[in-house]
Amino acid sequence: MTTPTLRPYQLQAVAEIRQAYQARHRSVLFVLPTGGGKTVLFSHITRETAARGNRVCILVHRAELLRQASASLDALDVPHGLIAANRSMDLSRPVQVASVQTLARRLHHIPPDFFNLLVIDEAHHSNAGTWARVLEHCRAARVLGVTATPIRCDGRGLGEWYSAMVLGPTPAELTEAGFLAPARVLAPPIGFDTSGLRRRMGDFDMSQAGQALQAGQAMGDCLSHYRRYLDGQTAIAFCCSVAHAEAVADLFQRNGVAAASIDGRMGPANREYLLAELGAGRLKVLTSCSLIGEGVDVVSVAGCILLRPTQSVSLHLQMIGRCLRPQPGKQAVILDHVGNILRLGHHLEEREWTLEGTPKKDREKAPSVKVCPQCFAAMPSARQTCPDCGHQFTPERRELQHVEGELVEVQRREAKREQGQAQTVEDLIAIGKRRGMKNPRGWARHVMAARQAKGQWRKVA
Ligand SMILES: [Zn+2]
Repeated sequence: MTTPTLRPYQLQAVAEIRQAYQARHRSVLFVLPTGGGKTVLFSHITRETAARGNRVCILVHRAELLRQASASLDALDVPHGLIAANRSMDLSRPVQVASVQTLARRLHHIPPDFFNLLVIDEAHHSNAGTWARVLEHCRAARVLGVTATPIRCDGRGLGEWYSAMVLGPTPAELTEAGFLAPARVLAPPIGFDTSGLRRRMGDFDMSQAGQALQAGQAMGDCLSHYRRYLDGQTAIAFCCSVAHAEAVADLFQRNGVAAASIDGRMGPANREYLLAELGAGRLKVLTSCSLIGEGVDVVSVAGCILLRPTQSVSLHLQMIGRCLRPQPGKQAVILDHVGNILRLGHHLEEREWTLEGTPKKDREKAPSVKVCPQCFAAMPSARQTCPDCGHQFTPERRELQHVEGELVEVQRREAKREQGQAQTVEDLIAIGKRRGMKNPRGWARHVMAARQAKGQWRKVA
């Protein structure tokens, strides 16, 4: 039997989740960035819970996630049943992996107190009606929701379903510890305007976006930027539609870069072949409009090319996460041609998750990212020097004299960031003096005391 060694932060998460249940929370939400190993973590919790004589159901909303969870349980030697369309149920197994749609249709077969624990994968979806039916039916069960982005697409939080939240490490911390690859993030000026795009189901209209991108500057740009920053290396290009993905693959192919597109209509053998070719480096660029939706466990690639504009933080971070699997000496390259990073933020940006969600007034606010005008590197807006090319940004004080609102907010955030980066009392005193405080020493002591009271201290990316 294989016993996985959980990483230190995963062990800590298991302990914190247990504490939350001991504190009488029935529903706990666990947040872990893409690539942090959430499937391994909940599989481990499932095994431990079942070993104590409990019945556990892992709920997923896509066939691929069902396969992924099932494979992860197999790796831990946890026998389990599957609840999915066109299959008969075997409820004698104490562990089940269920498609939420199928389970919701079969709830009349399942006593309300049957399951002791429900694990909800990709829990940011759990507001939808189907999930609600299952959660309300299994009233006796504890609930563990797992997600990288505990936020609904409308910016609301998940407090309706969860009363406690356990936060795993941030993407910056995972990167620092070597569990995610460091990345160069480049956001060249975009050649099309997302403000003209229609909205559908809470995101941009993909067929319209796909057409605009195929007609515009992004086509040429993605080839030239690939050549410049990733030449000869493997990459995934995220596209808007099957036609768009095929056009991009064709463009690379015609210009001597081995490329192919992959989509949901393809048979599994074909898809696995293309992914293996990409993994072996014989295929350089794989284009797709559905790779995230498919939940395919993608091989390690050197970069990702963002050609799919989105308004979903969750999708944004998942796309970038696809190229962050670490390897010795690897520095991933992220090429954003659609403005996602400026719209939704750098993947290392520290995000303040709460069960209440993003306050309404903050939802429309731009993230604190800026792009170097020389080399297009994206970085936290507090940086004075571009880490890639050394470009010096001019101080922004002048601009702030004549602008209110948005820029003032940016300024405040920068001030907070500067303060956050100060490690010692002396650093803080220096900031206090620079800001012309009457009593910088007293202020610095106050800030340090507040930090200690908070008990945790996270580094700014
Ligand atoms: Zn630069």
